[in-house]
Order: sequence, then C-alpha cells, then structure tokens
Amino acid sequence: GLRSKSSLPDVREQTLIAVKPDGVHRRLVGQIMQRFEQRGFKLVGLKMLQVSEDLLAQHYCHLRTKPFYPSLQDYMTSGPVVAMVWEGHNVIQTSRIMVGHTNPAEAQAGTVRGDFSIHVSRNVVHASDSREGAEREIQLWFQGKELLNWESCDQTFTCEP
Ligand code: GDP
Ligand code: MG
Repeated sequence: GLRSKSSLPDVREQTLIAVKPDGVHRRLVGQIMQRFEQRGFKLVGLKMLQVSEDLLAQHYCHLRTKPFYPSLQDYMTSGPVVAMVWEGHNVIQTSRIMVGHTNPAEAQAGTVRGDFSIHVSRNVVHASDSREGAEREIQLWFQGKELLNWESCDQTFTCEP
C-alpha cells in the first residue's frame, strides 16, 4: 500500500504546501498557514522563493505537455511563492481536503480554494497529492538541512504517540 513504501512513520508523514504568487499578492499567506497550525500539523520547513522555470518544469512534470502549461509557467514564475513542509498523521490526504478541488468552482466552502479563489488558473495554493508525490516534491523544493526535526509540545494531544 501507499504507506509501506515510505521511510517515515505515519505520524511523521510530510507534505509540500505552497502559496502561489496570487496568494502572496493577495496577503493570504497568514490565513493559509493558520489553517494548518490550528488543525494540529507541525511546520518543519518554510521559505519564500522565486520559482525558476526549471524547478517548475520538474514540479509539474505531469503537466508539461498540456496546452495551458505556458500560462501556468507565467503565473507560477510571476512573483514570490511561499513553500512549506507540514508534518503529521495523514497530512497529505487531510491537506488535499483542506485545500479543496483543483477547480475552485468545484471546491467546497471551508476549503482554501473554496474560500479564496474562483478560477483554476489562480487557485492560490499547491498541495502534494500522494506519498510518492510529496517525497519527490519535498526533495525538489527543500534541502535536507532546511527541514527541522523537532517535537512540538502538544503532539501527545493531537495524535496517539
Ligand atoms: P492540483 O494538484 O489540485 O494543484 O492540480 P493539478 O496537479 O492537476 O494541476 C496543477 C495546477 O495546474 C493547478 O493547481 C492549476 O494551478 C493548474 N491547472 C490545472 N488545470 C488547469 C487548466 O485547465 N487551466 C489552467 N490555466 N491551469 C490549470
Ligand atoms: Mg497536483
């Protein structure tokens, strides 16, 4: 199954969340981070960066042949991105639910995209979609030394040890 391939134990599952340039321009970084904090996940990596065409092509390798890829590249390289690694039990799947459907028109209210966006080309945030995807993307976006291994004081109250 999905889990057995992983090197990390379940409670240390990690995912890449990135606030896209529209989210940064619109001052949504704090509100998006707050949702992950209040849910109980642990922040283990954080940086602001200008995404290069090369990084984006590797990140979105599954989309490179799509007709919208050039406009996706323009959008994603148009301004700063805030990239984060969040850790915790089932964080990949739970994050996808918190972020909502790729197309904001189908995203439920209460999700990031459902609350803050209206069009698929400006959907505010990225979230890894699988264990394999998360591991690949975290390695692509972060160096090992940029990820902190720390124990948060509430962790025995958010998940069974
Ligand atoms: P995600 O995992 O929910 O972000 O969705 P995908 O991995 O399928 O697509 C990655 C990103 O490409 C989306 O979040 C959108 O920003 C963008 N995208 C996907 N489909 C379309 C489309 O039809 N048109 C445009 N302009 N962008 C798209
Ligand atoms: Mg995706």
